[in-house]
Amino acid sequence: MRRTKIIATLGPATDDPKVMQRLLEAGTDTVRVNFSHGDWNEQERRIKSVRKTAAKLGRYVAVLGDLQGPKIRIRRFKESPAVLEEGQAFILDSTMGGDEGTVEAVGVAYEGLAGDVEKGDTLLLDDGHLNLLVEDVQGPRIICRVIVGGELSDRKGINRHGGGLSAPALMDKDRDDIRLAAEADIDWIAVSFVRNPEDVNEARQLLRDAGGAGHIVAKIERSEAVQNLEAIIDASDAVMVARGDLGVETGYAGLTGLQKKIIRTARHRHKISITATQMMESMIHSQVPTRAEVSDVANAVMDGTDAVMLSAETAVGEHPVRAVETMAEVCQGAEAYRLISSTLRRHNAHFEYVDQAIAMAVMYTANHLDVHSIIALTESGSTALWMSRIRSDIPIYAFSRHEATLRRVSLYRGVYPVLFDVTHGSSDSLYRDIFDRLLSLGQAEEGDLLIFTKGDMKGVAGGTNAMTILRVTSQ
Ligand code: PGA
Ligand code: MN
Repeated sequence: MRRTKIIATLGPATDDPKVMQRLLEAGTDTVRVNFSHGDWNEQERRIKSVRKTAAKLGRYVAVLGDLQGPKIRIRRFKESPAVLEEGQAFILDSTMGGDEGTVEAVGVAYEGLAGDVEKGDTLLLDDGHLNLLVEDVQGPRIICRVIVGGELSDRKGINRHGGGLSAPALMDKDRDDIRLAAEADIDWIAVSFVRNPEDVNEARQLLRDAGGAGHIVAKIERSEAVQNLEAIIDASDAVMVARGDLGVETGYAGLTGLQKKIIRTARHRHKISITATQMMESMIHSQVPTRAEVSDVANAVMDGTDAVMLSAETAVGEHPVRAVETMAEVCQGAEAYRLISSTLRRHNAHFEYVDQAIAMAVMYTANHLDVHSIIALTESGSTALWMSRIRSDIPIYAFSRHEATLRRVSLYRGVYPVLFDVTHGSSDSLYRDIFDRLLSLGQAEEGDLLIFTKGDMKGVAGGTNAMTILRVTSQ
């Protein structure tokens, strides 16, 4: 069984219900709807489609809504693309109209930009494909010299090398999208261009105020977020290594080290990590990945990421299903290669919660006894989360009566959701019912050793206080 989870971005390429079904069958665990593209009707249609398909297949697939955030973009050209030559002057002007751009100047959709930059700054356009040096700022006009030229088309993004743009993480559109996401009962909200923990708290509060119960992913894609990494992780439920914008703001040379640091820090702080962007980029057109892409996905797995994400590969690619299949294969290939790692530092850890102490005891036992699998009887999934933060090859089944919990834990590395109502039936028949369930799923055999975690008070979140070791018996 694959332990690393896969997120596939939905888009025009996955709109055919047959493709959606094959996408889930190929191993998609969570889908991303990208609020940067398309209108709400389109998002809603996709959310309905994935839910319908998941129900048909008996799967628990979460929906992650990705907010656009303050992506700063140029406006449009009279004739797109404009070709900028190295060494020429080029002006970014926030007073310039929507489609008046020329090879000499173009509008910018963010008025604050001129106030945020100064002489000597480097601005990166189109994910760093073009490079401008700021030579002067005259009111709303930023006078630049082209350092790396090329084709520049309408509405491409602008980043400042080193970060420091003042735009807040949540724009008016994001606030509206959070309300719609709450109404649609979306499982995860990804907040783009987070600067600090306050941005995360604000998004969570907006979601709660709108009645949403979803969990929050902080996208690490700004220099400031790297400075505030630990506090942002503590404020979030998950983090995304958003390598597209992050690589532009911080420079790509340090990106791989940053990825490892973000994944490691998230795990140590008991949070989920997602590795994203250009993972299988060539598969937008090609049937097979490059060896560099294979290696990139495998290394993210070896870094310990919970999930790897596909963006354009599935949203607009020519082979969306093949991309998921390939990613699944590469994940399993990488998981088969065991890296020796110690979680010794945890032995000195002080536990805040009883369920955390139980989780640690279970993992210690499981790693030292011939245990086949771990069964967490869980309300919120928190015990499964604690356990999955500790490295082990042993599958963790999260048995829960809450579908929202089942959808959410499907993103946790090595955790598999099973619908099961612990509040029904007598205690005597509980283990018998679970054995039967695992036997019928083909996930256990007679004689297998299992570890259970559960609470004495059935149906209480965070109430896990017991661990039980049993051998599977047949009827
Ligand atoms: P995006 O975020 O695809 O929404 O830009 C991911 C990234 O920046 O890598
Ligand atoms: Mn981004």
